[in-house]
Amino acid sequence: MKAAVVGAGWAGLAAAVELADAGQDVTVFEMAPQPGGRARSVAGPDPTWPYDNGQHILIGAYRDSLALMQRLGVGPQHVLQRLPLALPYPGEAGLQLPPGSALVSFTRGVLAHRGWPLGARLGLLMAAGGWLARGFRCAPDLTVAALCAGLPAVVRRDLVDPLCVAALNTPAAEASARVFLRVLKDALFSGPGSADLLLPRRPLSTLLAEPAAAWLGPRLRLGHRVQQLTAQGQVDGEAFDAVVLACTSVEAARLTAEVAPAWSALAGAFSFQPIITVYLHSPGSRLAAPMLALREGPQAPAQFVFDLGQLGGAPGRFAFVVSGAAGWVARGGCGEAVLAQAQAVLAWATPPVIDKVLIEKRATFACTPGLARPPGRIAPRLWAAGDYVDGPYPATLEGAVRSGRAAAQGVEAEAAAAGGAAKGAASGSPTNTP
Ligand SMILES: Cc1cc2nc3c(=O)[nH]c(=O)nc-3n(C[C@H](O)[C@H](O)[C@H](O)COP(=O)(O)OP(=O)(O)OC[C@H]3O[C@@H](n4cnc5c(N)ncnc54)[C@H](O)[C@@H]3O)c2cc1C
Repeated sequence: MKAAVVGAGWAGLAAAVELADAGQDVTVFEMAPQPGGRARSVAGPDPTWPYDNGQHILIGAYRDSLALMQRLGVGPQHVLQRLPLALPYPGEAGLQLPPGSALVSFTRGVLAHRGWPLGARLGLLMAAGGWLARGFRCAPDLTVAALCAGLPAVVRRDLVDPLCVAALNTPAAEASARVFLRVLKDALFSGPGSADLLLPRRPLSTLLAEPAAAWLGPRLRLGHRVQQLTAQGQVDGEAFDAVVLACTSVEAARLTAEVAPAWSALAGAFSFQPIITVYLHSPGSRLAAPMLALREGPQAPAQFVFDLGQLGGAPGRFAFVVSGAAGWVARGGCGEAVLAQAQAVLAWATPPVIDKVLIEKRATFACTPGLARPPGRIAPRLWAAGDYVDGPYPATLEGAVRSGRAAAQGVEAEAAAAGGAAKGAASGSPTNTP
């Protein structure tokens, strides 16, 4: 089978590897000069230390992403720093989960968190017990803020709000409680280490995009923006037996406007949330941990800071993450505000300066309650992959990889069914007998 994959982000690369492994003749079209999509490195003045297009965090539960890296010969243990989940704030130890089974370690970690009054700790454990008893499910129209309204304020401020904006890139007041609970469930119930944070120790492109590009070789066509798709499987005039659209939702909506208008309308209806990454430079400085949580406020945009020198990256480089950043994109001045926030709450060996500000206006879709996401199957022999495709996850690397694999498996299953039907017709026997 000749299969086309449009887009070489993590979803498209996952689909392409899955199809190639199944023996299919794959061609990947990518409009950018490099693969990786939103999860790529960005060149800087020093080629040794490119920037990441935003600091990315994986967690231990990202099963398919880690398996794909292994498949491409990348040892996650070499490129990712594994840390038990901890949310230290400047000068405060914060919540720390000890190693071990995630549920037990969550309970032990919460009970041991002396920074919160005992009532707050017990309140969180009771609420978590309730979520567990209900199978981490809730009404589709509930927001995270509504779900957590009964929690002590300190728990909402120090745990729920930063986790929500980090995982869903949507403020708790607007974020889907159903998706939030699903992320918690996977982190707490996918086995020991599933809640661990996995922080990149190498430039983002080297985690997956570059190894995948080397593995695909000439099957990856960079710098080709697909302009047209037909219902017969023609991609810019070239015939394919099956197509996986792994481009952004906006591009997928454009390409399917005529061949699948209802699907296209759903894909085109997302609203987006920006993420701003502010890189500060301060030679000789070191944070108390590779990652610190920060308290966001009207003049304090960042929720997290990463000490990249401690993570094997550029010494003296610090990545400040501003998720759910729509307000700051509209207002401007985020870099300067982050610098002021950094000077106010952290100790520096040398005065920090702004190194680079990266603004991704469409970093992820806004993960709001009841959001209708388009399905992976668009039409016969035409599938979609991407972090926005219907699934339990918010816009994440793992959501992208899972959707890519699912699309490739859908293509395979459809081809197998068609092959079976053709054989059945040739032999004159029905194909749907058990
Ligand atoms: C700043 C930032 C921080 C993030 N942090 C995290 C994090 O900590 N953890 C996490 O799990 N996720 C994080 N994410 C989300 C994660 O990056 C995305 O969910 C994931 O990369 C999406 O992959 P994708 O393949 O679905 O889409 P994309 O990466 O957008 O890939 C789509 C590809 O299609 C290409 N394309 C588009 N149109 C065409 C066309 N017509 N023809 C050919 N090619 C085309 C694009 O160039 C692109 O390469 C973050 C995202 C950003 C922006």
